[in-house]
Amino acid sequence: MRAQLRIDLGLCQGHGRCYEIAPELIDADDEGLAVLTSDEPVEAGRAKEIAGCCPEFAIEVEEAR
Ligand code: SF4
Repeated sequence: MRAQLRIDLGLCQGHGRCYEIAPELIDADDEGLAVLTSDEPVEAGRAKEIAGCCPEFAIEVEEAR
């Protein structure tokens, strides 16, 4: 299964864990908040790993269509 990541910027606090472990998918904006750099679905386990690294629960995982 593949999954799509979404970032809730209302929750993101810019800790940077996500773009440290997934620089191929997520970058930081000027304020250090997370920005997705790819809309490509990723392997579901990888998506859950990335979402699980966020202490603010700001990364959502949706099943890709
Ligand atoms: S780990 Fe979470 S809070 Fe930190 S930058 Fe990424 S989305 Fe934002």
